[in-house]
Amino acid sequence: MFEKILIANRGEIALRVIRAAREMGIKTVAVHSTADADAMHVRMADESVCIGPPASSESYLSIPSIIAACEVTGAQAIHPGYGFLSENANFVQIVEDHGLTFIGPSAEHIRIMGDKITAKDTMKALGVPCVPGSEGGIATLKQAQALCADIGFPIIVKATAGGGGRGMKVAQNAAELEKAFLTARSEAKAAFGNDEVYIEKYLTTPRHIEIQVFGDGKGRAVHLGERDCSLQRRHQKVLEEAPGPCITAEERARIGKICADACANIQYRGAGTIEFLYEKGDFFFIEMNTRLQVEHPVTEAIFGVDLVQEQIRVAEGLPMSFTQDDLIINGHAIEVRINAEKLPDFAPRPGRITQFHAPGGLGVRMDSALYDGYKIPPYYDSLIAKLIVHGKDRHSALQRLARALGELIVDGVDTTVPLFHALLQEEDIQSGNYNIHWLEHWLETHLRD
Ligand code: ADP
Repeated sequence: MFEKILIANRGEIALRVIRAAREMGIKTVAVHSTADADAMHVRMADESVCIGPPASSESYLSIPSIIAACEVTGAQAIHPGYGFLSENANFVQIVEDHGLTFIGPSAEHIRIMGDKITAKDTMKALGVPCVPGSEGGIATLKQAQALCADIGFPIIVKATAGGGGRGMKVAQNAAELEKAFLTARSEAKAAFGNDEVYIEKYLTTPRHIEIQVFGDGKGRAVHLGERDCSLQRRHQKVLEEAPGPCITAEERARIGKICADACANIQYRGAGTIEFLYEKGDFFFIEMNTRLQVEHPVTEAIFGVDLVQEQIRVAEGLPMSFTQDDLIINGHAIEVRINAEKLPDFAPRPGRITQFHAPGGLGVRMDSALYDGYKIPPYYDSLIAKLIVHGKDRHSALQRLARALGELIVDGVDTTVPLFHALLQEEDIQSGNYNIHWLEHWLETHLRD
């Protein structure tokens, strides 16, 4: 059993990992930049180490500083959280070369899934359904034209090295193809230093459905159903729920088994998410995230499991604490992401919290690193809290969400809370009738001053 682990992250996710470790009797080490000296994760961990100045590139992304912090404190393993170094195969390699344990998948699996063409090829070979499109990269406009004549418009050009919604361009017809192809390539080059792109059929009204998977690294793997993350702004998730309002038990069992079998086949270790677009009863793989997701708590709520403790268990070489048959869905859960941003344009609003009160009561979970008087630094992500509610069904989860949002007090900065109050009034949200474009359309018509 690990005696001490280091958390290479900050904010709510660092707290999340500290809580899981403490319940397991494992000591924790927080790392922080000079801007985060007063942060909650530093206060809550057993020990802390300052690893550099505010810029992430010199602190939370500094591999030598993090390894040194492990050596100084005697931490045996590193939990990366999400973002920062969590999907950096090179980091995993260095961690292992230093005789430390990375709480997550192998460097090889992170590398495969980090390259979208390799990821798609791998999944296809494992029997996972993919969006129709090019086999590998598309090097010339001529090749692109020939492929599109074959699969038909609309299409989307995507960067092989893509992430964060960048380097993607849609073409509605042949006339738009040249521009989409060339701009996607130059954006990809600028953002990722790699201009390779590929082409997929563009789905016009899909939902974003992702399957939570978990493997022990030795060939056993399970799925924990789906999350519907279709409410997105600029490809960023805003609200997530589980189970998906439109997914049947048969569909879940079928796609879940395909995903679990794929993970078992490659001996995947730890938590992972296989993301799909879902349209008219069909699932189309888009990418796999080889880490814990921001929205993992909705899955924890409906299955009654602790995914972080499970990650720690399998990193130690222990078996998973559940089998597929143990995983039975109980009720419905919804998460909203509360950001320090000002509507209607979602401009970041860091600053001092003058008053904070977290909602509570049955079925309410608040994952946040806020406290009264905390000063949100301007250097990092604007996510300040995740409010997760769990109810016996979707309707009661929605009612509970409205009740909990009403109790929440965050004074001193602007937040996205008013957006959720407004969304809860919408008939489409109440009935679960939305796709990946719904929120953008709604924002255009409702949030103009
Ligand atoms: P990234 O890694 O940059 O987030 P993804 O491949 O996960 O890129 O796609 C992000 C989002 O872009 C999806 O959730 C979806 O909204 C949209 N998207 C991606 N591929 C397609 C497609 N083939 N058809 C329609 N929308 C797509």
